[in-house]
Amino acid sequence: MRQGRIHKRYKYTSRLLAFVLVATMVLQVSSGGIAVAAEEAGDVAAVGTAVSGDALQTARSMDGNEPGNTIADDTGTQTGEPVTTTQTPPTTTESTVPTTQQPPTTEAPLILDTAYSLFNVTTSGTSIKIGWFVQNNTASGYTIFRKDNYKKDYKKIGEVAGGQSRFNMYYFQDSGLKRGVKYTYKVEPFHVRNDGSVVNGTVSNTTSYAPSFLAPVISSSTRSGKTITLKWKKVAGADGYEIYQAQEKGGYKKVKTISGGGKTSVKLNKKNPNKDYRYKVKAYTKYASNRIFSKASEVIKVYSNSIQKILNKIAKLKKKYPTGKYWNLMEDPNGDSETISDTPCMHNVYGYRYCNRYYCPNGVLGLQCYGFAWKMSDLIYGRDAKIKNHKSYSKAKVGDVIRYSGHSVIIIEKHKDYIRVGECNAGGTCIILWGRKVKKSELKNATYSHRYY
Ligand SMILES: [Zn+2]
Repeated sequence: MRQGRIHKRYKYTSRLLAFVLVATMVLQVSSGGIAVAAEEAGDVAAVGTAVSGDALQTARSMDGNEPGNTIADDTGTQTGEPVTTTQTPPTTTESTVPTTQQPPTTEAPLILDTAYSLFNVTTSGTSIKIGWFVQNNTASGYTIFRKDNYKKDYKKIGEVAGGQSRFNMYYFQDSGLKRGVKYTYKVEPFHVRNDGSVVNGTVSNTTSYAPSFLAPVISSSTRSGKTITLKWKKVAGADGYEIYQAQEKGGYKKVKTISGGGKTSVKLNKKNPNKDYRYKVKAYTKYASNRIFSKASEVIKVYSNSIQKILNKIAKLKKKYPTGKYWNLMEDPNGDSETISDTPCMHNVYGYRYCNRYYCPNGVLGLQCYGFAWKMSDLIYGRDAKIKNHKSYSKAKVGDVIRYSGHSVIIIEKHKDYIRVGECNAGGTCIILWGRKVKKSELKNATYSHRYY
């Protein structure tokens, strides 16, 4: 036997009141504060529902039909209007046949629901909680549909039962998403009628979420003979990695594919020890027969053995003459070019008197920046290394001393459009500084001094 259904019939005014209150809450909060808004809305909406609970129970005809056996009414209206079947007696017969009157089979007029203001309540890694409001709260339930940028058709992924929310707001949690995929959601109300037929309400707007697929971070590069070893940090969601290589000239080419997201190092063989290489790493994940890539890591440069030896020496110099100390004689007037202090120079008071100095390999007695750059050069190459001057940025190398705009520095990193330098007295106090960036455009009239044997 089919049970009669309970239909709630809300008073229009109270429903409107609750809707307006909740809608006002939504307007007042940013997406970050929605959880709070829902709480507040609950308090307010409770007032509205207290006066709107006059549920109307309508008896369903005892026709013995099971759900699904009845013929659906495609119009979606007026099904189950009271029907009176009158059997008209033949005129020739006495009206002994009783008039049969079926009990009323009324169903409340269907008030279709509308889902709206669908939004991302919370997103965390590969999970999302979506929330939406409904206009009438009359639906039997809400169907959640999802598509993504690889599977273009919406597919039903779940349902939420209707009639539960006192303040016309519903939620759905979706987990286990794939990183690097952009998902789009929409929600549609559905109404199951007494006869089992289903009528849909108005579908919501859409909302999207793409769980981040982070670029790998290269943690180290080492070089031994002809082998270069790269290591990076594991990327969440990765199914593997691709290694790209470039040499001094030319673009990047893929040189290795690594399957397994947990493998975080690679050995690259047959590399010329006298050449520089640049590398970047991308993570990939597999989805719907696609390979989805993260952005590329930052580029790591692996220097030739000769440059690497210079870099190792520079690393030692950075420790012996650290950033923030002063290359001067303020604390030890009888010191030599090895002396550093914690006291800034006061050039406006003492002039060059306490500035440190160095007898440079080109015959100049170098003060301040000039002496410091050449002293570093001698400590790297040895005092007897020959000097060759040139004016070409592209020929410039790590270890070259540069004179530009009345200042002297030594190159500690060389890039396409900029260098990083080691220097003294950049701020006028004979302070030591390692790592400042100098753009290629600032070096138009620079003179580069290269050391060699
Ligand atoms: Zn000074």
